[in-house]
Amino acid sequence: MSYAYFEGAVVPLEEAKVSIATHALNYGTGVFEGIRAYWNKEQKQLYVLKGPEHYVRMVQSCRIMKIHLQESIDDMMNATVEILRRSGYQEDVYIRPLAYKADPVIKVKLSGIRDAFAIFTVPLGDYLDVNKGLHLGISPWRRLDDNAIPTRAKATGSYINAALAVDDLIESGFDDGIMLTQDGHVAEGTAANLFMVRGGKLITSPVTDAILEGITRSTLLELAKDAGINVEIRSIDRTELYVADELFLCGTGVQVAPVTRVDHRPVGSGAAGELTLQLQKLYFDAVRGNNPAYRHWLTPVYA
Ligand code: PMP
Repeated sequence: MSYAYFEGAVVPLEEAKVSIATHALNYGTGVFEGIRAYWNKEQKQLYVLKGPEHYVRMVQSCRIMKIHLQESIDDMMNATVEILRRSGYQEDVYIRPLAYKADPVIKVKLSGIRDAFAIFTVPLGDYLDVNKGLHLGISPWRRLDDNAIPTRAKATGSYINAALAVDDLIESGFDDGIMLTQDGHVAEGTAANLFMVRGGKLITSPVTDAILEGITRSTLLELAKDAGINVEIRSIDRTELYVADELFLCGTGVQVAPVTRVDHRPVGSGAAGELTLQLQKLYFDAVRGNNPAYRHWLTPVYA
């Protein structure tokens, strides 16, 4: 059975239910996280990847949205480990914490509403194919702006933007897409950050180009630095994607997924790039607990 954390207690998932009058359901006034736990078969261990880092970002999202939680980051981590342990998973799992405006109030505002915190989990393999090489389209839908709905907050309502974009792109035959900022720079994927390789340099957009400040993005920047790879953080033009040597998406769900075509043009040679595959291997080894140098990123679930 799968367990959830709901209204301060661990309960079976079917019992974690909210009213249709919930403010967050009506107005999108929630924030959330997406965390992965990786099952290591040889070690018989389930590792939560960068749990505290995700909860720190969640607290930042809460600050933007004026959500005040009773739970500390330690409480959230303890609840996460507890529901994973009680659920008894022996496979890769996706963890979904939610903080939301919980009162049944018909009023568009943020203050004076009770806030709640919940977590549920689902088994999850690959969100996008990490082997075949993705074909991405540039979305005609622009990425949200910091002065409209800030992308720095991982807010439930803001995912309308990604849903509009990705749905149209998939109907047009792409695997997923890339969002441009209001002024036409590359922001990120629809639910992932983007890296480009040009001239042997690993390049990604700055946090001021309407991206979610991705945990995987930081993780890869650290892995790249440790591997002696040259890194540059700067704005990226749309047509740089057409002349890039390599491209890949990264995120908790997406992991590290090579991109081999953009807008019907091959990326580099048209196959997954060398640096991309090097980073992908470093990433998968680290997150599954097979590289002791990065064990401090992981929280073991079982004693
Ligand atoms: N951007 C967006 C819009 C996302 O939804 C995600 C997934 N959380 C990311 C980037 C990647 O963030 P992270 O690496 O923290 O999962």
